[in-house]
Amino acid sequence: MGESYECYCLYGINDKGFCEDASEYKFFSHKSCEYFPCHRTVDEENYNCIFCYCPLYAMGRDCGGNFLYLDNGVKDCSGCMVPHKRENYDHMMEKLMEFYKTLREKV
Ligand code: SF4
Repeated sequence: MGESYECYCLYGINDKGFCEDASEYKFFSHKSCEYFPCHRTVDEENYNCIFCYCPLYAMGRDCGGNFLYLDNGVKDCSGCMVPHKRENYDHMMEKLMEFYKTLREKV
């Protein structure tokens, strides 16, 4: 009790801080979602829904995605496919770990 864990992983954690063999869990395409695909794409077969509600949103301008800020200050991600590309799973996890590290350093 009292200890906190970043994740409960049945596989080895690599030096980047995430699961070494998450290949079974890196891709999920929820094609029956009423919004699928929620971003315009020509490649629905490789559309990854695992990062729905992008976890990098909180990184603001440092997320590395294709965003713009509207006049009212809202970050508009409608032109971004970074979290939804099948091949971007590792990139997303690396960015998340970077974000968590900066949060830990602030605490
Ligand atoms: S611009 Fe892309 S990567 Fe950045 S928060 Fe929005 S969806 Fe995520």
